[in-house]
Amino acid sequence: MEKLISLSLGEVMLKGDNRKTFINKIIGQVKKISKNFQDISVYRDFGKIYINCHEEDIDEVIKKVKNIFGIVYITPTWKIDRNMENFEEAVLAVAKAQAEKGYKTFKAKAKRSDKRFEIQSADLNQMIGGIVLKNTEYKVDVHNPDFYIYCDVKEHIYLYSERFKGTGGLPLGTNGRGLLLLSGGIDSPVAGYMMAKRGICVDAVHFHSYPFTSERAEEKVQKLAKILGQYTGTIRMYSCNLLNIQKAINKNCPEDEMTILSRRFMMRIAEEISKQYEYDSIITGENLGQVASQTIGGLNVTNAIPDRVVFRPLIGMDKVDIIEIAESIGTYETSIMPFEDCCSVFLPKHPKLRPTRKGVEKSESKLQVEELVKEAMSELEIITIKQED
Ligand code: ATP
Ligand code: MG
Repeated sequence: MEKLISLSLGEVMLKGDNRKTFINKIIGQVKKISKNFQDISVYRDFGKIYINCHEEDIDEVIKKVKNIFGIVYITPTWKIDRNMENFEEAVLAVAKAQAEKGYKTFKAKAKRSDKRFEIQSADLNQMIGGIVLKNTEYKVDVHNPDFYIYCDVKEHIYLYSERFKGTGGLPLGTNGRGLLLLSGGIDSPVAGYMMAKRGICVDAVHFHSYPFTSERAEEKVQKLAKILGQYTGTIRMYSCNLLNIQKAINKNCPEDEMTILSRRFMMRIAEEISKQYEYDSIITGENLGQVASQTIGGLNVTNAIPDRVVFRPLIGMDKVDIIEIAESIGTYETSIMPFEDCCSVFLPKHPKLRPTRKGVEKSESKLQVEELVKEAMSELEIITIKQED
């Protein structure tokens, strides 16, 4: 009998022909985190993934696996051979693992994924019930039990009861590469997390206005990228100085269009980076109505720029709910550190609430748009933000 961890894959299992690719991506992710543990191995048996490791590492491995997208449940599981040797021992191990919880009733739930197995599910249920009734104080309640004892018959036989919720979503890398516009605020790291959870490999671009914005502000953004990387792995961060562009806008365009015009340049540069470094999508933390540049007019005007799909996963969310996610993924505390943002440089007193495409295009005709983008691109810095093991 061995104790191991099983992973249930939920939505991934619905994915028809892609299922194998999806499952292999998750196995790859599990192998990546496995580097920190000795004698750990991963395999698949029917629809689940199983991790075999030293018993004393199980809690730690579960903690790591919780961050992997695509996993719905994580379950401590006892495995025995199909010859049923150790069956009783395994059933009792599962029942006893529930001992501290004050449970009184249980129900057995066997499932033969491999129908060739000679004992029927109903008979397995009876056997499990008999063992538990004979050896413990638990009673059977078929309608409303305090806990279930599950028994899955596959290549091997697996017994388990409690299961922990995983992150869900789709495995990383199954939906291409996305470039996140990462500011130092609360929203954009959450947006990056949400799209990574849908299977996008996320890298980030940050715009600063050095020396108007400080190196510490830049460090803060790198710290955010690093926290995000706990879920997505190594992140490449493109760091772009927007100052010359902002100066040009400030000199040549109406004051109240500063923010919206800067935003359009951010999108142009994000598009340029996407072309050069092969990103299929752009991700922002924009949220309808939150600030002046995120009115419907503002969004229409920035949306007109890039030749890529722009994901705005926070568009319809309330700030309190965004904050809740920021706290749960661990970015909130860093996000609220008070550092200046490039947008606060030349901040207009009354930003335009209803910009039109025609209006901003007219203002931009006073600028050397292509040259400005080219110049910013030529000074682009690329930082690789790795996770420590
Ligand atoms: P956040 O909390 O993410 O800073 P916000 O509520 O402050 O968002 P804005 O400042 O209007 O909103 O920015 C909207 C979105 O534009 C951000 O979520 C981010 O995706 C992008 N963005 C804004 N400023 C920057 C920046 N300096 N570098 C990169 N992206 C930025
Ligand atoms: Mg911001």
